[in-house]
Amino acid sequence: MKEKSQNNLMDKVISLCKRRGFIFPGSEIYGGLANSWDYGPLGVELKNNIKQMWWERFVHQRGDIVGIDAALIMNPKVWEASGHLKEFSDPLVECKVCHERFRADQKDIIVEHEEFHEKRKESAGWTEPKQFNLMFKTFIGPLQDEKSTAYFRPETAQAMFVNFKNVVDTTRQNLPFGIAQIGKAFRNEITTGNFIFRTKEFEQMEIEYFIEEKDWQNIFEMWRKEMLFWIKDLGVNLKKVHEREVPDGERAHYSKRTVDFDYEFPFGKEELYGLAYRTDFDLRNHEKASGVNLKYKDAKTGKEFWPHVIEPTWGVDRSLLIVLLEAYHEEGDRVVLKLPLRLAPYKVAVFPLLANKDKLVEKAKEIYKDLQKNFSVAWDDRGNIGKRYYSQDEIGTPWCITVDFESLENDTVTVRDRDTAKQERIKVAGLTTYFEDKLK
Ligand SMILES: [Zn+2]
Repeated sequence: MKEKSQNNLMDKVISLCKRRGFIFPGSEIYGGLANSWDYGPLGVELKNNIKQMWWERFVHQRGDIVGIDAALIMNPKVWEASGHLKEFSDPLVECKVCHERFRADQKDIIVEHEEFHEKRKESAGWTEPKQFNLMFKTFIGPLQDEKSTAYFRPETAQAMFVNFKNVVDTTRQNLPFGIAQIGKAFRNEITTGNFIFRTKEFEQMEIEYFIEEKDWQNIFEMWRKEMLFWIKDLGVNLKKVHEREVPDGERAHYSKRTVDFDYEFPFGKEELYGLAYRTDFDLRNHEKASGVNLKYKDAKTGKEFWPHVIEPTWGVDRSLLIVLLEAYHEEGDRVVLKLPLRLAPYKVAVFPLLANKDKLVEKAKEIYKDLQKNFSVAWDDRGNIGKRYYSQDEIGTPWCITVDFESLENDTVTVRDRDTAKQERIKVAGLTTYFEDKLK
């Protein structure tokens, strides 16, 4: 029973996203493109708010992390040095009957497919597993040959290592310090799905935090806590989050310790974020491959060495998905998106009580224009007030202002709260302070 209602939740969130303009199927008028999604007017606001919250918290509010924004296509030598050209692949098998391709290591899907053919009295067979590289290939320039081959980055991390020397030289950061980046990455995954959970094109928020080797355990612990605080601040119930020590065989070969943060999605417990100790593998390898000295020189001791790295990684799209799943509430026939205040696409909505009374509309427009200087504000003058409240609740707008006849007499308005549905009478002159206080 529980499973059914959970799947139901996923369907309801997907339907809300489409209906209200958070997320649309990609290229929809042409029948879509498998597993591609486009963020709509409200989705882009929500996504930007998540990214902004992350950047403020980890870059602006700390003195020890600086940001970069690197190119999506890097010199292919980067992927040779990082091991992606050789090792970033999945074993692929092809069904000899229908030529559909599957990941050889996903046994339940393989068995399911065999049963499908058995039911049709066909005997399924598989080709030998072949390694299939997950990087998206492209060509630079007019010639499409080996020499012009390039790749869309499969992760943001390498750009931070490649720019390590530039950042140290220009910012004079001392260890420990981090480089942060938010940006898109591309993986030609064979198995995608579950809405925006796994797509071939996705966005990451990532930090490479450079340390001395002896400090790795303490700093790993510091980041473990930071990641949990972050999840909590997204409005997520921590009971649904499970830390998982990634065992030896499953970890990337360079990592000495990895913790995955799994979340109880409606479709199962799946990875949300990851935290890895990458040792000095990356800088050491890029120095070897590029011939450029990527060591850090300690100002006090004069000692030169490759810093070790702790890497916390957050998926933007997965963050947005859990924010929506956690925020979705039904109260009677009312759908309320109880988004954390700072993530809400609109902070305030302004309504004239009646759309056909010029004085009310004029006064409401004035308030609307004034609030826009400080907040993202919605305007609605369609239907009745009750319907407008429902409509704003569904997209998570924390407050609705109604301008009525009393407003014309004493310069006050009603402010209605999304979560309690309670209304208060507030002086127009005090509105900005009122919302600023609540948003603090
Ligand atoms: Zn088949």
